[in-house]
Amino acid sequence: MHITQLTYRCYLSASPLFRVNSLRLLSTTQISMAASSRHKNAKRIEGLDKNVWVAFTSVAADPSIVNLGQGFPDIPPPSYVKEGLAQAASVDRLNQYTRGFGHPTLVKALSQVYGKVCDREIDPFKEILVTVGGYGSLFSCMQALVEQGDEVIIIEPFFDCYVPMVRMAGATPVLIPLRLKAGKKGDNISSADWVLDPDELASKFTSKTKAIIINTPNNPIGKIFTRAELQTIADLCIKHDTLCFSDEVYEWLIYKGHQHIKIATLPGMWDRTVTVSSAGKTFSVTGWKLGWSIGPEHLICHLQTVMQNTLYTCPTPLQEAVAQGLLVDYERMGTPECYFCSLATELEGKRDRLAGILRSVGMTPVVPEGGYFMIVDVTALNQDLSHMDSDEAYDYKFIKWMIKEKKLAAIPVTAFCGDDSKKQFEKYIRLCFIKQDSTLDAAEVILKNWNK
Ligand code: PMP
Ligand code: GLN
Repeated sequence: MHITQLTYRCYLSASPLFRVNSLRLLSTTQISMAASSRHKNAKRIEGLDKNVWVAFTSVAADPSIVNLGQGFPDIPPPSYVKEGLAQAASVDRLNQYTRGFGHPTLVKALSQVYGKVCDREIDPFKEILVTVGGYGSLFSCMQALVEQGDEVIIIEPFFDCYVPMVRMAGATPVLIPLRLKAGKKGDNISSADWVLDPDELASKFTSKTKAIIINTPNNPIGKIFTRAELQTIADLCIKHDTLCFSDEVYEWLIYKGHQHIKIATLPGMWDRTVTVSSAGKTFSVTGWKLGWSIGPEHLICHLQTVMQNTLYTCPTPLQEAVAQGLLVDYERMGTPECYFCSLATELEGKRDRLAGILRSVGMTPVVPEGGYFMIVDVTALNQDLSHMDSDEAYDYKFIKWMIKEKKLAAIPVTAFCGDDSKKQFEKYIRLCFIKQDSTLDAAEVILKNWNK
């Protein structure tokens, strides 16, 4: 018997605790090599076993590490949202299943908020689907509307799950990078300096293109697509009759001088766009994992089919609490007290502080127009990592080294791009700045003592 088969048999006959622990010793590939062909993974997940969050979040969980890696706030969520959850859970009826496509109070609140933003009536029951986080919204788009043989255009750097989700739908991701404008160097780079080449973009559309995924504000760069850029994308979608999945989970985190525009509001785009957003980002409650897709009935009805046959419904108390929170802020929209606005104001100070710290130690940040991440060029630090004999990209090695030696965690930017663009992005790392002052203070101490 082959040693890997033997390992696998021992593993199957061992206690559950041993199995959990020993799983960490075997890679998915080793495990599947050991299994008989009937135990092999389904083709649709072939090659998708590596994941940057799985790799980096457990390491960064050590409390001695200052964690600017995975994107989650360590500032408290608004108290009325937390209290809303306690209140919801105190009502017996709200602890039971609710409507599968979205709790009625929540879809009605969403239709009010987005009706105002989009300046159109949104049918709460036919044009909205509530699901598990922005992830669930993206996944239901892919499963409902993308199929074998299709191509889906994705702009690099992209939120990492887009590519595996397209692959799991049987389609081919077609990547196009944002590029730094020619001649842009030095201290004064913003996410607006990263642009698409319109001709290159046009060349990616073929008869097989089913959809393009856009993300504005973008994770990880923080770029907010301008109306002109969105119009270029919209024109191509209309010309080639393709769909647009617009990931807008950071839609409220827009810094001074910039405006968030929904591609769904451009002429001819509502009928072909599904807009994705998330309660986790809207109210700084990433652990609640509630998200929604908004679009025309003829697209949302297919996402609803995926929902009814997979997850069926989301937790009722969470939906009720998010609904009540949205109604509070709906009344305050357009005022500085509205959380959608006050959070962005608070974060802008943190963004500027982090950019200042990075510049003071010779690093070059790309100042984001929106969102809560900042990518930073670490070339100036000249960190020699040749002793790390892995063939990983420089950013992966740099962050592994930084976590170990400097006790500071970040996320490698090449996790957000395909192989062809790795050279362009491997000198950048991503830092998250939705953090308490004390966390940013601790990061500042590490960065300022870098060479000591
Ligand atoms: N899209 C982007 C761009 C993200 O950064 C994230 C991460 N939160 C998601 C979607 C997924 O959101 P959620 O946590 O609500 O699933
Ligand atoms: N969206 C968050 C980020 O980009 C978290 C992603 C995750 O944990 N999967 O950091």
